[in-house]
Amino acid sequence: MRAIRRFTVRPVLPSALAALGDLAGNLRWSWHPETQDVFAAVDPDLWESTGHDPARLLGAVGRQRLEQLATDAGFLDQLAGARADLEHYLTGDRWYQRRLAAGVEGPKAIGYFSPEFGITAVLPQYSGGLGILAGDHLKAASDLGVPIIGVGLLYKHGYFKQSLSREGWQQETYPVLDPDGLPISALREDNGSRAVISLALPDGPEMLARVWVASVGRVPLLLLDTDVEGNPDHYRDVTDRLYGGNSEHRLRQEMLLGIGGVRAIRAFSRLTGHAAPEVFHTNEGHAGFLGLERIRELTVAEGGPKLDWDTALEVGRASTVFTTHTPVPAGIDRFPRTLVEQYFSEAGPTPGVPVDQVLALGTEDYAGGDPSVFNMAVMGFRLAQRANGVSQLHGHVSRGMFNGLWPAFDEAEVPIGSITNGVHAPTWVAREVIALAASQGADPDSDDTDGFWAAVDKVPGAEMWAVKRQLRERLVHDARRRLTRSWEKRGSARAELGWIDGALDPDVLTIGFARRAASYKRLTLMMRDPERLKSLLLHPERPIQLVIAGKAHPADDGGKKLIQDIVRLSDDPAIRHRIVFLPNYDIAMAQPLYPGCDVWLNNPLRPYEACGTSGMKAALNGGLNLSVLDGWWDEWYDGDNGWAIPTADGVEDIDHRDDLEAHALYDLIENEVAPRFYDLDHEGVPTRWIEMTRHTLKSLGPKVLATRMVRDYVRELYAPAASTAHRLNSDYAGAVELAAWKKKVRTGWAGVRVEHVESSGVSDAPEVGDVMSVRAFVALGDLAPADVEVQLVHGRSTGEDDLVDTTTALLAAAESYEGGRHRFDGDVVLDHSGSFGYTVRVVPRNDLLASTAELGVVAVP
Ligand SMILES: *Cc1c(COP(=O)(O)O)cnc(C)c1O
Repeated sequence: MRAIRRFTVRPVLPSALAALGDLAGNLRWSWHPETQDVFAAVDPDLWESTGHDPARLLGAVGRQRLEQLATDAGFLDQLAGARADLEHYLTGDRWYQRRLAAGVEGPKAIGYFSPEFGITAVLPQYSGGLGILAGDHLKAASDLGVPIIGVGLLYKHGYFKQSLSREGWQQETYPVLDPDGLPISALREDNGSRAVISLALPDGPEMLARVWVASVGRVPLLLLDTDVEGNPDHYRDVTDRLYGGNSEHRLRQEMLLGIGGVRAIRAFSRLTGHAAPEVFHTNEGHAGFLGLERIRELTVAEGGPKLDWDTALEVGRASTVFTTHTPVPAGIDRFPRTLVEQYFSEAGPTPGVPVDQVLALGTEDYAGGDPSVFNMAVMGFRLAQRANGVSQLHGHVSRGMFNGLWPAFDEAEVPIGSITNGVHAPTWVAREVIALAASQGADPDSDDTDGFWAAVDKVPGAEMWAVKRQLRERLVHDARRRLTRSWEKRGSARAELGWIDGALDPDVLTIGFARRAASYKRLTLMMRDPERLKSLLLHPERPIQLVIAGKAHPADDGGKKLIQDIVRLSDDPAIRHRIVFLPNYDIAMAQPLYPGCDVWLNNPLRPYEACGTSGMKAALNGGLNLSVLDGWWDEWYDGDNGWAIPTADGVEDIDHRDDLEAHALYDLIENEVAPRFYDLDHEGVPTRWIEMTRHTLKSLGPKVLATRMVRDYVRELYAPAASTAHRLNSDYAGAVELAAWKKKVRTGWAGVRVEHVESSGVSDAPEVGDVMSVRAFVALGDLAPADVEVQLVHGRSTGEDDLVDTTTALLAAAESYEGGRHRFDGDVVLDHSGSFGYTVRVVPRNDLLASTAELGVVAVP
């Protein structure tokens, strides 16, 4: 029988246990083991059977048990302690407040928009790395006291659950999530009714959306959901699932996220008094339409300042940060231009914002661009004054990928920086590992993260090794449980599954490999030579075992085929005890997986892994990375904290390249990794392995943290953006001026020329240390010397007269002549021997620019 209507009845807790509701109502429990202990104490079996879900636990526990707990002094003590700790966490001063108190300025609030958020397995609103990163960003911001407001969508089915058919083909199911059973609450108007925002669409009535609030520690996360009464069915389905549907479906989701998201923030501020964001951060391009809503607020909205387009654009840009996440061109979010045109007509969601201007923002009007598409990343760069990639290598690749937007500049000068991703230690590090460092007096809450990880030096090797075995064993048990469930789903009877009791071994070198089955991640590289792999798995003295997991996008049959290939291999009775595929990679699986692995394997096709974070989580648990030098590993591999799989960059034949890299991988495992793991001292401890583990924790521990990442965002992007924004929009005079100045520079630039350069001071046999004086005669037309920077760029000169390893010095305005001509002077010391070259160029200068490349114009001789 099907229910015609369903709802969830919230439990009523005895008043003595009211604090349980407070603890369940804030997702901080998901990264706070002591709070989890409280829930486990309520009913250990239910805690396990609900999959560690406080809301379901409290819904399922019987009245009798609750009444018993309400008089259990020991439990009440534990509960009161956890509640007090939460209060302290939520209200005390943290890093950001201490920074403000020390006089360092920062925004009062930051809006952080993302299409997915991975916070806990019981709020399945994520598909993979992007969502997990967004979740870790919010959690770390909370730990640091950074005033972020998260904005996302609440998908009725979240992302799919993966299982396997008998043939090993991926099966997808989409369980319905009842928002009333999730750890979120409705945003309400003062009269108690649910807050609703709306969006005009050209093909029907206004689309309505509810606003939910998840409390992520100190950070509110607003989630929008269109499954509301009053919406026609095709609107109700807009938030049906993550990354499902066609372009039009995705466009509607992204309009809701960006435009609806700004409206949700306004409603949230109005109803709670929360400060309005001074900075808006769009995590990947999907939320980019938020910039259009802000332009609408500034140009045409009732009660707004009614600025002109150019001025509003400057205000919006100054206060917007855009993070790009993919170096795979096919991964960039693009829509048919005609579709965007149709949706942003006068009847669309941002009335009064001219559709031509909207279209111009997403146009690929550069060499090689496709005029028929609307590119969300391109719009992201145009609507954000500050932009970054997510590792140094990815920053470099992104500057190349988007050089077309700043064609006058060399790749190195494209204004896209980088902040390397990080992971939230309290979520991902096994409690036992934290306890090891804490046992030496280290404080996990301290700002001194170097000091915390350095404490591992004092932990005896045998103790570390014992903990690692315990974590490996936990993974083995979890994997066996998952395998049993999976084989039952695949149609096996329990009696046939006795072998699973011997699957994986807590004393065998365990290699983890879990990722989305995107083709560049090369899920099956390890299978290039199945016989070689078998011999590694079954080595008589130094065997390895592999734990593999990952989902393919539902529409990606190629990815599903890769999964099937792995599953079939791992079905082979000869090796199935040493290689397992675990279906449904998610946070719940990941949490015991990283700590249980000795080695984390990653073999993407370089440089397509923008950053990667799973290896960071492994490292924080003392796992050693065995990875292609891509993403974060390219930056932080130091020769002693793991292994680099050599890559055959530049080998065009992909098959051949895969062969070369797979064999390099086998060789490394056979000759380096396994011998070291099994090289035990008289106490049975692999001392050289433990040394690498210590070095990994000390060298990578402080770097890979999400708190390091969020601090970087605050210092390098949020605070500077807020500062520029203040100067522009306190009364908008700054923005009016900047917009006018840009216009003047753009129209006047045709008159800017480097006419003539003279140098003196060096003989015909120059030596290191000689000083060269340079005089540049420059025509500026209608512009003034203060509008420009005249740069002397010098470096080594190559055979083709290209300059490399350049340094930039500024020339100072020395004299002005008639006709808008000026002389700029300066000196340069010849600081290296060998070929030396220089040039002079002119770029626009204004304190309110984030980069001299921002306008895209430059004048050279
Ligand atoms: C960390 C994590 C990811 C992302 O890992 P990558 O290294 O970026 O591929 C994906 N899914 C889950 C469940 C994770 O925990």
